[in-house]
Amino acid sequence: MPQIKCTVTECQYNSDIMCDAPMIQVNHNGSEASASSDDTKCDTFKPKR
Ligand code: SF4
Repeated sequence: MPQIKCTVTECQYNSDIMCDAPMIQVNHNGSEASASSDDTKCDTFKPKR
């Protein structure tokens, strides 16, 4: 997977501000058509235990 920088350090897959998941899924954030990055979200997010 390409390197993905992610500042969501509360995520279980986050390691040193990078995503360590084997794949991620990104979806629309509420709307059916995204107009900006604010309209997208990472569905692979998992809170740290
Ligand atoms: S799974 Fe999503 S939220 Fe979690 S580190 Fe990767 S990109 Fe960030």
